[in-house]
Amino acid sequence: MIFKGGKKSTNIEDRTSSGGGMTKLAAGGGIGAILIALISFFFTGNLGSLVDVFTSGIQPASYETVNVDSQEYNEQKEFAAVVFAHLEDYWNEAYPASKGKYTEPQLVLFSGSVNSACGTATAQVGPFYCPGDQKVYLDLSFGDELAQRYGAKGDYAMAYVLAHEVGHHIQQQLGITDQLNYVRQRVSEKDYNKYSVQLELQADYFAGAFTKYLSGKTFEGQPILEMGDVEEAIEAAHAIGDDTLQKQAQGYAVPDSFTHGTSAQRMEWFKRGYTYGDLENGNTFKAAGFTNIKY
Ligand SMILES: [Zn+2]
Repeated sequence: MIFKGGKKSTNIEDRTSSGGGMTKLAAGGGIGAILIALISFFFTGNLGSLVDVFTSGIQPASYETVNVDSQEYNEQKEFAAVVFAHLEDYWNEAYPASKGKYTEPQLVLFSGSVNSACGTATAQVGPFYCPGDQKVYLDLSFGDELAQRYGAKGDYAMAYVLAHEVGHHIQQQLGITDQLNYVRQRVSEKDYNKYSVQLELQADYFAGAFTKYLSGKTFEGQPILEMGDVEEAIEAAHAIGDDTLQKQAQGYAVPDSFTHGTSAQRMEWFKRGYTYGDLENGNTFKAAGFTNIKY
């Protein structure tokens, strides 16, 4: 994706230099380079019902934090800010006027751990959206994580991650998140998982619709999307499917426990979004027979 010199979002909160305990330790100790940290995965509060994490939660035992002073990190930061600006342009245009005023989300960049209205999270939990403060939380080292651990390479994989998380913000704006929380309190965990899958697939659909929009845009006369970008997103969608992750982690998959959808489903709904590029065809709930969710 072409991003250098592009318009950057102003809805970015950079907490990497001030807040991150791990990063601060590294800087203070004069090490400066990469700090390999063993961080236990923790969240305070009832996080599960309040946030939308990117994958279903099979996390690595160790986590590499980024060197926030490096050129590579600054490039990743610029990339995220440019993608976020495109997402703002897209949703300001695509958000249905009939649903009221659209409020843009914020992007919080952090390193190591972060406080949100949904509780405290470490980088290990992966990117997430907190409906309580309408912010997307991202540790930029997740890009390396995607490439190395999940085999999802290329810069556009990270754009897909951001578009997916902003998709959860759209669901919050449309009132879908509230409807899901209502359902969650009334059905078994096993039944709720099926709703959760549709919520995640819809966020993938929105990421596909955004990609379709971006495919028609240029920057200084050049198409913004480069050869292979769409495939990078599809490969990432495949890599983080519940069945794929569970098979990697334990050798077999337990469909009742899926919360984000299979690799096939995630690719399918991203592709659908990319094909239709509208909101109308993104009703994953209806497609699954859950007519109690209004869209
Ligand atoms: Zn999600």
